[in-house]
Amino acid sequence: MKRLDQQGEYPSRILDELGNRRLAGLTLPEEYNGRGEGLVELALMIEELSAACMSVASALGLHIGVAAVIERFGSDEQRDAFLPKMATFGTVGVLGQSEANAGSNKLEMETAAERQGDGWVLNGHKQWVTNFYDADFVLTYAKTGPDEAAPHNISAFLVPTEEFDRENDWDTLGANSVKSPRVSLSDIHVPADRLIGEQGEGYTERGEIHTGVNVPARGVGIARAALEDTVSYTSSREQYSQHISDFQGVRWEARWQNVSTQLDCSHFEQLTALIGATM
Ligand SMILES: Cc1cc2nc3c(=O)[nH]c(=O)nc-3n(C[C@H](O)[C@H](O)[C@H](O)COP(=O)(O)OP(=O)(O)OC[C@H]3O[C@@H](n4cnc5c(N)ncnc54)[C@H](O)[C@@H]3O)c2cc1C
Repeated sequence: MKRLDQQGEYPSRILDELGNRRLAGLTLPEEYNGRGEGLVELALMIEELSAACMSVASALGLHIGVAAVIERFGSDEQRDAFLPKMATFGTVGVLGQSEANAGSNKLEMETAAERQGDGWVLNGHKQWVTNFYDADFVLTYAKTGPDEAAPHNISAFLVPTEEFDRENDWDTLGANSVKSPRVSLSDIHVPADRLIGEQGEGYTERGEIHTGVNVPARGVGIARAALEDTVSYTSSREQYSQHISDFQGVRWEARWQNVSTQLDCSHFEQLTALIGATM
């Protein structure tokens, strides 16, 4: 995993294996080749993967979120066309929501879709599109109405990755084997049947999808792995004929307990929030 991250090498073998096990369709119903599991199972799987490799967890978590949008808001034709292959990573979806000036506040996005003939014409850019290079399509959010209509002025489209121009990459510490580039669209025609959900309701519909729990689950997984590595290292490394975990500054029991208690609390809060969300 360290080598993959340091060399920016794509974890294709691992992602293929997760696809073969239909874990890319973890939360999809069995009729779409999924495993029919819930959000708690999603959080636990992503936590475990993140403890080993954040890049794998990000690519999988985002893909599952995109599949959930199609399953919930797509037409029968869209579900049949995309979901069975998404369940095995045969078709890979990524998320195009954020932009340079639309981070926390997605309503500030500038990408726009104009109705033209039998479809739409999209212009704009998306930033941090995780797993873009291995994806087949980007779930792309664009304004289809005036700002005064916010938040009912944003729609979602399934846009093939080849329609985007690549602008630049970033090296991300600890998540470097799956890239999150900035990409742009210029006068790209998208057929009407690639609009997903209700026109103007893409933003609000996305708010009803709770697979975003994969993001805090990644944080919990990484924190747990860091704590385990720290305990393991400080308990084996010796200086002045004793393990460094026995020195006051490192050992200070309250500190370890504090970190592990905080971690347990995060885990617990996440699971209780999930149980609340699924009831
Ligand atoms: C490695 C990586 C991968 C990503 N992958 C994707 C992807 O695949 N698809 C995608 O669409 N996006 C992706 N993103 C974007 C991600 O969703 C955004 O980074 C995130 O939404 C936050 O936006 P920002 O980074 O611009 O932070 P900002 O919006 O600049 O916010 C910075 C900080 O300001 C504070 N802040 C902001 N608003 C408030 C508020 N209202 N109240 C209190 N505090 C606030 C918070 O502390 C916040 O953490 C990715 C980002 C990264 C770093």
